Amino acid sequence: MAKQTERSSGSSRRSFLAGAAAGIAGSALPVGAQVAAQAPTTQEIRTDVVVVGGGIGGLTAAVCAQKAGARVVVIEKAYEPGGTTAHSEGGVANSTYEDMRANAPEGDPDVQRTVSENVDKWGELMRSLDAPVGGGEKPGAGMSIAPVMWVNFMVRTIESGGGKVLVETPMLRLLTNRQEEVIGVLADSPKGLIRILAKAVVLATGGWMTNATLVQQHITRHFGSLRQRNASFYDRKPPFLGDGLFAALQLGAQPSTGGFDSFYGHLLPARPGKITNPMSNWSAYFSPWCVAVNRFGRRFTDEAQGKLTGRQMTRQGEQMCVQEVARQSDAMAAYVYDDIVYKQYACENCGLGGIDKYIAYKMSGAPTAMANTLTELARQMEDWGVGMSAELIVRDITEYNQAAKNGKTWALPVPKTSAKHALAVENPPFYAILGQAGITSTHGGIRVNTLGQVLHRSGKPIPGLFAAGVDIGNFNNCTYLGNLTLGAGYGYVSGNNAAKQPAPKGGWGASPTTSA
Ligand SMILES: Cc1cc2nc3c(=O)[nH]c(=O)nc-3n(C[C@H](O)[C@H](O)[C@H](O)COP(=O)(O)OP(=O)(O)OC[C@H]3O[C@@H](n4cnc5c(N)ncnc54)[C@H](O)[C@@H]3O)c2cc1C
Repeated sequence: MAKQTERSSGSSRRSFLAGAAAGIAGSALPVGAQVAAQAPTTQEIRTDVVVVGGGIGGLTAAVCAQKAGARVVVIEKAYEPGGTTAHSEGGVANSTYEDMRANAPEGDPDVQRTVSENVDKWGELMRSLDAPVGGGEKPGAGMSIAPVMWVNFMVRTIESGGGKVLVETPMLRLLTNRQEEVIGVLADSPKGLIRILAKAVVLATGGWMTNATLVQQHITRHFGSLRQRNASFYDRKPPFLGDGLFAALQLGAQPSTGGFDSFYGHLLPARPGKITNPMSNWSAYFSPWCVAVNRFGRRFTDEAQGKLTGRQMTRQGEQMCVQEVARQSDAMAAYVYDDIVYKQYACENCGLGGIDKYIAYKMSGAPTAMANTLTELARQMEDWGVGMSAELIVRDITEYNQAAKNGKTWALPVPKTSAKHALAVENPPFYAILGQAGITSTHGGIRVNTLGQVLHRSGKPIPGLFAAGVDIGNFNNCTYLGNLTLGAGYGYVSGNNAAKQPAPKGGWGASPTTSA
């Protein structure tokens, strides 16, 4: 994992507890409200650009700002940089704007255009730096990072260029002067509170998927049953509470115009199933061909909804399905399929994940079932003890099978609209895996313009404030375009533009409302 910088081993627990307390007591409160009772500032640093968050959005922004001539400081809440980026598969899509519009038509066109126009520039920069990035030589060919190596490489690049990467140093709030220009951040470091004064701040804190209040308000009331599929899952990694979003809102920023009610994630083994790395082992890409039933045994959603065809349809259908799973009781569902679906889409050699999902879920300890008749499969599912009714399972699947054979699944009480995916579950053996929705990242966030500047409610940019990565809202909406792509594209844009930010006209004196 990335080199530890400016670390103090004794501070990690204190930082963690501070973060946890903020989550319980103030999860829906502005970040600044959480530090009122703390000790006075003990240190001050001056720089040109301070970047908040050490994932792909933040590290890209820092390197770009540095290459453009700025002094940079990155502050990272965790004991090491990398965030969810370090736990990803590393695929950086470079889809065209038209593809993005087709895949996520409810998303923000300006944000999508900006990403599509800049992700290849990011790729060129990475190649010029000799970073561990593959592909991208041809337009649209897709790129990939070697996640941990890439994070280490970026940290070394920043440090060897004279920048700093401060770990266990969460941003507490933004600092502004009397003219409401951003002049830096107040952070909690292992050595005490620290004021980092800068001409520009780039927010890249990775989203709000562990903020119970926000997730319950916008995504699902079954927050407590969701499984986290991001850096917060790992030992001592602090939660994603939406620190960037709240800090921006506190200054009057606009939330994105959409995306708050959807998320990126995949199915994970239901508890007590044990999740191990790589988390992508559990992704049920084949779900559009399944019948999904909730924990009572009822079919509840169109498993193959979406607007696309071919492989994309599969991916997007799976994305839509897992979001519906999140809204079911216990954020839980069983995917039921037969031998045809198993052999074509869910086995080790199917190309959709390269792993036998039935075996993977069974080995994790999650409930699974396999039988030669639907009645026996349903009986086994009832025995899981989660509330499934064998009678209802058989009734719903029999009704679905009848409609599939007649080509009329669109007319079911819960329709399945893609005829191609509406296969009857009729070829034994039959399989069922029990999963819970895993949330990787949120889609709603801060509204930015094409320069990466955070927009005020008035429509004007907030002077000195930029964002990158998942903190930016409405790039994805319902369907998923790729957050490494978002981090790469806007890291590039915001880093370069933050480096051009002039010194604040109103000087470096903090306004009474934000002074430490
Ligand atoms: C198993 C898996 C596979 C994936 N594969 C892909 C893939 O192939 N392609 C793809 O596009 N996406 C993929 N993703 C998603 C993608 O990796 C993430 O959504 C993306 O990396 C997020 O980048 P980010 O920079 O916005 O946030 P992060 O990488 O999470 O970085 C944000 C950082 O900010 C820090 N932070 C939070 N609050 C504060 C604060 N107050 N002060 C300072 N620091 C703070 C966090 O600790 C974190 O380190 C995958 C995710 C997972 C889990």
